[in-house]
Amino acid sequence: MLTAAAVVLYFTIWLNTTHSRGDGCQVQSETGEARMTAVTGGCACGAVRYEIAAEPIRGFYCQCRDCQRDTGSGHSSVAVFPSAAMRIAGDVAEHLRTADSGAQKRKGFCRNCGSPLYNKPLNKPDLIGVYVGTLDDPSGFKPQIVMFASRGHSWDHLDPALPKLPNMRP
Ligand SMILES: [Zn+2]
Ligand SMILES: [Zn+2]
Repeated sequence: MLTAAAVVLYFTIWLNTTHSRGDGCQVQSETGEARMTAVTGGCACGAVRYEIAAEPIRGFYCQCRDCQRDTGSGHSSVAVFPSAAMRIAGDVAEHLRTADSGAQKRKGFCRNCGSPLYNKPLNKPDLIGVYVGTLDDPSGFKPQIVMFASRGHSWDHLDPALPKLPNMRP
C-alpha cells in the first residue's frame, strides 16, 4: 500500500505533468476554475489504483474466448481510453497473449489479487482498453457495439439494440 505522503506526491507529480502537457483534459466548472475530468479505478484488493485524465473514446462488449477467460464470464465490458492519459500506481503484472483477432495484447492484472484491469493492443500503442468493472463508478459505461458475437453463448444476453459484429471491428 502507498503511504498518504506518497499518494500526495504521486498525484502532485501527475497533475503537474498533465497540466504542462496541455492536452485539453481540463474543463471549466461553473465557478470558472479549471478542474480535471479524471476517471479513477483499481483492483479488488486496493494494491493497484489508476487515474485516467480523459474521457473514454469508445466502449464495447467483446465475446471472444480470450475475453471470456479473462473475465470468467460471457464477455468483457471495455472502455477505450488514450493510453497516455492513464497513470497507474501499484504492482501490475502483464501477460502477453494472442487474442482471437490474431492481435497481440498485454493483459494487465493485479499481481496480488488477480483482478483483470486492462488490455493493451501492441499494434495500437496509443490506446488502452480498461475493464469497466474496475472503475470506481462503472455506471456511466456506454457500450456501442458487440464484438466477436460469433463466439457468444445463448445464455450471455446483451442489449439486442446494439450492433453485433461476428468478429473484430473492421
Ligand atoms: Zn489487487
Ligand atoms: Zn475479446
